[in-house]
Order: sequence, then C-alpha cells, then structure tokens
Amino acid sequence: MSAGIIGGIVGGLVVLLIGLLMPARVCPNCGAVQPKFRQPRNFRQAMWGGFTCVTCGCEMDRNGRKISS
Ligand SMILES: [Zn+2]
Repeated sequence: MSAGIIGGIVGGLVVLLIGLLMPARVCPNCGAVQPKFRQPRNFRQAMWGGFTCVTCGCEMDRNGRKISS
C-alpha cells in the first residue's frame, strides 16, 4: 500500500470520528434535531459550516446560531 492510500484512509477515519463525537445540533427555531452529516446547501455552508434546518428550513451557522436573512 502506498503512503497516499494510507493517508486517505486515516484522514477519512478522523473525519468520521469527529462527526460521530460531535453532539447533535438542534434547530434554534423549531427545536428539531439535525442530522450529523449535513449536505451543504450553498457555498457558504460548504466553506464555513452551518446548515439548513431539515424541518423548518431556517439557516444556522456552524455554532447553531440562527442566521437572520
Ligand atoms: Zn427548524
């Protein structure tokens, strides 16, 4: 196995672990628990984190604070 493949596997495991260890986020607007593996809805979410509530559609930053729009 090449070092590149090993690095890829280790990197993937670290990302997986971080995802599993993070507490579940709750929507500040409606209180719905958000899925741990979010799909970024736009460029800002992909770059900076943050997510869109699956239930009410309100936007939050990566710390779970509501983004007023
Ligand atoms: Zn919500």
